[in-house]
Amino acid sequence: MSETYELHCRQCGRQLGNAPVAMCDECIAPLEVAFDLEGLRGRLTREQIAARPENLWRYRELLPIPEGASPDLPVGFTPLLAAPRLADQLGLKTLYVKNDAVCLPSLSFKDRVVAVALERARAFGLRVVGCASTGNLANAVAAQAARAGLEAWVFVPAAIEPTKLIASAIYGAHVVPISGSYDQVNRLCSLVADQFRWGLVNVNLRPYYAEGSKTVGFEVAEQLGWRLPDNIVVPMAGGALIGRIRKGFDELVAVGLVEPKPVKFFGAQASGCSPISSAVKQGLKFPEPQKPSTICHSLAIGNPADGHQAVEVIRSSGGWAEDVSDEEILAGMELLAKTEGVFTETAGAVVVGVAKKLIAQGRIRPEETTVLAITGNGLKTTEALSGRLQFLPAVEPRLAAFEALLARVGVPLTTR
Ligand SMILES: *Cc1c(COP(=O)(O)O)cnc(C)c1O
Ligand SMILES: [Zn+2]
Repeated sequence: MSETYELHCRQCGRQLGNAPVAMCDECIAPLEVAFDLEGLRGRLTREQIAARPENLWRYRELLPIPEGASPDLPVGFTPLLAAPRLADQLGLKTLYVKNDAVCLPSLSFKDRVVAVALERARAFGLRVVGCASTGNLANAVAAQAARAGLEAWVFVPAAIEPTKLIASAIYGAHVVPISGSYDQVNRLCSLVADQFRWGLVNVNLRPYYAEGSKTVGFEVAEQLGWRLPDNIVVPMAGGALIGRIRKGFDELVAVGLVEPKPVKFFGAQASGCSPISSAVKQGLKFPEPQKPSTICHSLAIGNPADGHQAVEVIRSSGGWAEDVSDEEILAGMELLAKTEGVFTETAGAVVVGVAKKLIAQGRIRPEETTVLAITGNGLKTTEALSGRLQFLPAVEPRLAAFEALLARVGVPLTTR
């Protein structure tokens, strides 16, 4: 092979070169990018990586970007925050938050997958790109296509958060609201990709797109001092992220950058759309499609493309999956914000709520090192909180008026 990676079918093992296709046409199974890891062993060092700029391109040898490409958009390398106050509340000793609420350029982990997919789209000569999205992916495609000078068409369920529509349209992307569910949007996009030969990042470019998710795993390992955690809790929509974090950890071990260690993978969903967590709990290999009904729009995929792999990764790692109600999601948003100063969207809150459940079930233990994957920014889903927060009434700009307010709300005055 001319490049150090190519598509292969996980089911029949066929090698398929590099092309904008997502499925093995013999097995109808999703394709995955396989790297020549043997060739990299010992050749890629921690020091080499550490000397590079702090963005996801520092792992370029392990990303399916074209040879000679020189991407310069600083995507990724988000903070891994120690979270002692949240740990305290949850009854853990060592807890970290991987904070992709501040991933650039569009404030969710979807910037990672899009960065990789657009490099590939360019190499395939595709001039028009797009996606089927629950919101964040549309934002990321729109922003990065604008900068790359590509035309963008993003398809979303009409019911997504207004902020997410605005955060795509501002970049000049064609935003197409579809009156239907995400799964209907996705089916339409498969037809569009075939008909127009566009590069739809999570449809016909999906194997390359999914590789971008590995960088969450690469960064967590590097930021822990080139060590793997004991547990990681990951939100699941299509199920690509959780599977690719595992692939990322495995690749770091294979090339000799970290010591092997068992990591338990925990999947998190909203109860109103929980095909993957239900499959894990019921012992099914393939998730059964559901009709989503939850405030967590970004995870509302009823028929997850990588659901089977997600189930497999979770179960084979000794992990588990759980789901939480809308009320628990809102409580999770507040808890993370109040303890660690991180304002996440509903998807990140699902992770907080699920972690709490898993700890109560004894599946995550206090003395282990646990990482929560916080994947999106709360400013995009403020409507979820409407009516929940208390605001003080407006006060005249006079000290006496402020003191009257304090007396009225019963706050004792502290003076220095
Ligand atoms: C898309 C998304 C996920 C889940 O990613 P999948 O790879 O589809 O499972 C998690 N969090 C947020 C904020 C997302 O936008
Ligand atoms: Zn096959």
